[in-house]
Amino acid sequence: MVDKLTAVKGMNDILPPESARWEALETTVREVMRLHAYRNIRTPIVEPTALFVRGLGEVTDIVEKEMYSFEDRLNGEQLTLRPESTAGVVRAVVEHNMLYEGGKRLYYMGPMFRHERPQRGRYRQFHQIGAEALGFGGPEVDAELILLAVSLWQAMGLQDVRLELNSLGQPPERQQHRAALIAYYEQHIDQLDEDAKRRLHSNPLRILDSKNPAMKALNDAAPRLLDFLGADSLAHFNAVKAILDANGVAYHINPKLVRGMDYYNLTVFEFITERLGSQGTVCGGGRYDYLIGEIGGKHAPAVGWALGVERVLELLKEQGNASPEVAADAYAIVPEASSLPQVMPVLQTLRSMGVSVQMHAPAGASDGMGSMKSQFKKADASGARYALVFGADELASGQVTLKALRDGQGAQRSESLQQIAEWGHRLQSTLLP
Ligand code: ATP
Ligand code: MG
Repeated sequence: MVDKLTAVKGMNDILPPESARWEALETTVREVMRLHAYRNIRTPIVEPTALFVRGLGEVTDIVEKEMYSFEDRLNGEQLTLRPESTAGVVRAVVEHNMLYEGGKRLYYMGPMFRHERPQRGRYRQFHQIGAEALGFGGPEVDAELILLAVSLWQAMGLQDVRLELNSLGQPPERQQHRAALIAYYEQHIDQLDEDAKRRLHSNPLRILDSKNPAMKALNDAAPRLLDFLGADSLAHFNAVKAILDANGVAYHINPKLVRGMDYYNLTVFEFITERLGSQGTVCGGGRYDYLIGEIGGKHAPAVGWALGVERVLELLKEQGNASPEVAADAYAIVPEASSLPQVMPVLQTLRSMGVSVQMHAPAGASDGMGSMKSQFKKADASGARYALVFGADELASGQVTLKALRDGQGAQRSESLQQIAEWGHRLQSTLLP
């Protein structure tokens, strides 16, 4: 026996039937994105390290300690597995000059990589779905993105998430607040943890984002960025709130909400649940009007969010949402292997009509097809609604037996293979939800 290889710590296999939840969620997302006219973008998983250092900010958790970075073996280029997708989307938008004829609304789904301590809701490979609106500066698009997220929660049946909202203002307002923040923390220097001490002069706003409970009281009493906003920033914030109010979307203002990346300005928000312990943020985003310029594009405003797929699925499960159906509609029982050349085209026809069919197949190449009894057992265990029995005698007379396995208490009837178009269609329509 050779040693067993296992998955990398913090990186999960997503197996059936669990994977059906993922597919259902992705289907819902595609539909909701289509309804809001957001279009799909797919960027590489590997990007130049400099993209994230420049984009996310040097003094952030992600860039300081969470990135999977390596050197390209052949040309020595510094590369990183993407820890998030906004920077990559912005790079692509700039590289392909996508804003030349106006703003773009985009969405993505895919794996992200962060070297964190694995725990419930926190993994090293995890998945995000994100929406970005680039080239739009007005508060209505901030609100549109929040409404889009709320529509997603409704379509998925997700409950118990609350929206927290804040404004980070503009760089000059941040500068003033920063000075006040440094002065405040300097007065309480003995209460700062290691991270906070290190960030005091490099990025004091980040201290507010601390997950250390010992820092909470101190952070609660810190100067509020909201109190430093000028008239324009306040007007933007109020306009977002007014649209949310008009749409009946409830929110809480959280003056300590700063988000984990440096690229945000004005509106920032998170959707949070109490039901997943400390990993309670299911979605976060905000405006990032300076990132496109930072990455080398012509200045253009933008706003977006990303949700954590594992956390959303965990919450749906926690709420008791049922798992989607994974069984095939019909299970094909084939007593004689010699019938397969005649049977398999029939199965293909049924599939082309929208009936999903699982064909009985033995484990070993030289095993027979197995007894009718054992095949029926497998059919039952598969969860299929119907068994299709292709007995040799029936086939010889152009017939197949259709037997209800679940509802109909084993009712069965003979169908003519000649008339498959007719009964196949009938079968398909009984399967509709
Ligand atoms: P947290 O504060 O929980 O570390 P974050 O602020 O680092 O989250 P973002 O970078 O805003 O998270 O990513 C958006 C979403 O992606 C988060 O709200 C969360 O749902 C999810 N997420 C982030 N990191 C992880 C991870 N390591 N494992 C699973 N999901 C994650
Ligand atoms: Mg994080």
